[in-house]
Amino acid sequence: MFRRRNGKNSDMPPAETPTRKAVIEIAGVTKTYKMGDIEVNALRGIELTIYEGEFVSIMGPSGSGKSTLMNILGALDQPTDGTFKLDGVDVSRLSEAELARVRNKKIGFVFQNFNLLKRTTALRQVELPLIYAGVGGRSKRAKAALTSVGLGNRLDHLPSELSGGQQQRVAIARALVNEPAMILADEPTGNLDSRSGTEVLQIFQRLNREQGITIVFVTHDSWIARHTGRVVMLRDGIVVADKPIPQPLVAGDDERPSMEDEMESILQTVYYGGDAKEYN
Ligand code: ADP
Ligand code: MG
Repeated sequence: MFRRRNGKNSDMPPAETPTRKAVIEIAGVTKTYKMGDIEVNALRGIELTIYEGEFVSIMGPSGSGKSTLMNILGALDQPTDGTFKLDGVDVSRLSEAELARVRNKKIGFVFQNFNLLKRTTALRQVELPLIYAGVGGRSKRAKAALTSVGLGNRLDHLPSELSGGQQQRVAIARALVNEPAMILADEPTGNLDSRSGTEVLQIFQRLNREQGITIVFVTHDSWIARHTGRVVMLRDGIVVADKPIPQPLVAGDDERPSMEDEMESILQTVYYGGDAKEYN
């Protein structure tokens, strides 16, 4: 059973009822890259619906299409075929300019390498998306976003004056400040030590639970995936498993088990085929 993660709406019906609002609706999505005479079928027919307030992790072996799918979800790239609706809007056929507008308004991105500007204070980094969007009350909104990730006392710090975990929290505040329909994160804990990774996970869990923000992230780490509400497993450009995590772990509450135990456990939870070795 899917566990509803938005505390404010805990009396709402569970995931499978049609009353929940879909943030992402993907049907028959394919992506073929052409390299000279060679065609690579990176996605071969993805069906995926993600509802408002879900926290989803995307896993799968290297080359299975995770980045390609994330680029499409983020309106950074278009599918070759199929449809993609974001927040009810069919974005699969939008122009470049329209795509840019959708990205700016509806999606917050968090990257593995933080992607912060070197000589720019935390406050200014978070104000930038508001400047691009031409929104007022920037300083106040940026401060609120930084405070919500526990950095209210680091407004004037440069990235070099912050730890990796703090830098990633600045990036999360920057992703949040435009009030996007969803946050997309590409291995957001991939470059962090486990303590900072836990901090970042705690923030994602809190944003998801308390503010109902939809979060989709790619991770290679099954332990991280078990902190989310649902795991989508890709293989060879298709979804081979898509399962709720019955009782997501609470970040910081449990100690990480041995790699082997963890791998076995996630495979038992979400995956019903293939070889565990593929997922290392
Ligand atoms: P993952 O993120 O799961 O490792 P990708 O989405 O990056 O997988 O890649 C899926 C497949 O598409 C791979 O075979 C990869 O080589 C190919 N691919 C990805 N991007 C491109 C590109 N820009 N041009 C050609 N082939 C690509
Ligand atoms: Mg990738």
